[in-house]
Amino acid sequence: MENCIFCKIINKEIPANIVYEDKNFLAFLDIRPLARGHTQIIPKTHYRWVWDVPNIGEFFEVAKKIALAQKKAFNADIVRSQIYGEEIPHAHIWVWPEIVGDEKDLKGNAEKIISSIQ
Ligand SMILES: [Zn+2]
Repeated sequence: MENCIFCKIINKEIPANIVYEDKNFLAFLDIRPLARGHTQIIPKTHYRWVWDVPNIGEFFEVAKKIALAQKKAFNADIVRSQIYGEEIPHAHIWVWPEIVGDEKDLKGNAEKIISSIQ
């Protein structure tokens, strides 16, 4: 979809700290992180809302994969997630570990998550 910032990230027109990618989904660090490793998980096809995504089970399997990687990467007991959707009109799930630290080190935090994905 034109002018959708997330579609531009999917098409690599805008750089992002990508931590996971498969055929249908992409996960990357939020540029305004709430915590270390705060990740956005999105479908590669443009849908307005999370609830519009047909393979929503697969979508949440990816969210689980990222949450478990964050737990390991940052030694976090709690991983939060949130679904709003007003800010960017492309379905997305926020997932972030409840841990304080250097949340602005996007590259370093991305590498920690990537090496913790199983
Ligand atoms: Zn989009």
